[in-house]
Amino acid sequence: MDLRDSASDTRFRRALRAWLETEVPRHGAPPPPGDWAARRRYDTDWQRKLHVAGFAGLSWPEEYGGRGAALSEQLIFYEETARAGAPYIGANFIGMMHGGPTLIAEGTPEQKAFHLPAILRGEYVWCQGFSEPGAGSDLAALQTRALREGDFYVVEGHKIWSTRAHVADYCELLVRTDPDASKHGGLSWLILPMGEPGVEVRPLETLAGDSHFCEIFLNGVRVPVGNRVGEENDGWRVANVTLRIERGTAFAQHVISMRTQLQGIATLARKREGAWADPALRGRLGALEARVGALWRLTQMGVSEARRTGGAALAGSAVKLHYSELYQEIGELGLQLLGRGALCREDVAGLPSAEMLHDYLWSLQFTISGGTSQVQRNIIGERVLGLPREPRWEPR
Ligand SMILES: Cc1cc2nc3c(=O)[nH]c(=O)nc-3n(C[C@H](O)[C@H](O)[C@H](O)COP(=O)(O)OP(=O)(O)OC[C@H]3O[C@@H](n4cnc5c(N)ncnc54)[C@H](O)[C@@H]3O)c2cc1C
Repeated sequence: MDLRDSASDTRFRRALRAWLETEVPRHGAPPPPGDWAARRRYDTDWQRKLHVAGFAGLSWPEEYGGRGAALSEQLIFYEETARAGAPYIGANFIGMMHGGPTLIAEGTPEQKAFHLPAILRGEYVWCQGFSEPGAGSDLAALQTRALREGDFYVVEGHKIWSTRAHVADYCELLVRTDPDASKHGGLSWLILPMGEPGVEVRPLETLAGDSHFCEIFLNGVRVPVGNRVGEENDGWRVANVTLRIERGTAFAQHVISMRTQLQGIATLARKREGAWADPALRGRLGALEARVGALWRLTQMGVSEARRTGGAALAGSAVKLHYSELYQEIGELGLQLLGRGALCREDVAGLPSAEMLHDYLWSLQFTISGGTSQVQRNIIGERVLGLPREPRWEPR
């Protein structure tokens, strides 16, 4: 692909940049961490503004409220929103990056017509109910049952680590519809309305001190059969579409924001006595900057591949692996520069230690969420490089 802006790209970039210059300051600062109701409002209001201005769902079909725009515009959108420090999609993450794209690929016309415009307008927030206490990396081991009763599935089970489930309206739910089929063969992908009787959400506290993810208990929840995405018992294939989208392009805006994070660290190094004079530190900053640049190119490749194939990119696992590990290395460098300031959750001696410590603690989850680094290495080895499969073992 040609990465230079065409004439229409340049017009799009200018219009978006001008809009962001006015709207980002007007939208104000995000609410304090931990206030999830306020955060939902802040994020969905931003989503609505993007939609009204014609900047929501750039790659989504026009008939469902998207822009049907060229790939280059989507990449420009990521660059310009990161440059402007625009709010991240946040509470809309699962809807915009998982649920919506999965419906575009696999949903019925009714599902698309109802959900896609509502997600783009910021009306509905989605969460993901895939993992269970006994099913994380080995997702197909999940036990949540959905028993068919006429036009409904009756769902019983327990999901865990569901990000922002406490502020969500819908959940992409992976369930077992045929307990007698093979492990991967008896699953289905359902749209669960979170307000249904029998859905109980319990927030969990994280290392960073807030509750951004939750357990979901499902006791006799009735989900219409019309809410199934894909065929019954074909849920493993649909779930893989969802996961590949998450791993491939969902972090694009974050990748660009890493540059800003590195600039913050360079500014800090200039303030810390003796730090900037250290050639090893400057070398490390330079190497990290080069790796962020390479990761952005890999992300562009993934977005391009996803556009070309109409699905999600296999390169996604490589993007996810590098992104999550690089993010942690950048965070570690920040903490080293802070020195003892890194021991405090508040700003110390005029240093931005609160934010940098929070960034680092937050970064620890990325090598686990969305599939651990070990699992990404297995996927790259087996499915991308064609290496022999890892030896199978069963827990005793
Ligand atoms: C912040 C955060 C947000 C999350 N959000 C969601 C969400 O919204 N919805 C959702 O459904 N889930 C979510 N998850 C769950 C996430 O997908 C799982 O944590 C992840 O898949 C790992 O599963 P596990 O925690 O059960 O660990 P396990 O699968 O038990 O893994 C434990 C360790 O064993 C290693 N391991 C396992 N299998 C292999 C193997 N075959 N080869 C080599 N090593 C292996 C793993 O790499 C890991 O180090 C979230 C997790 C986090 C941390």
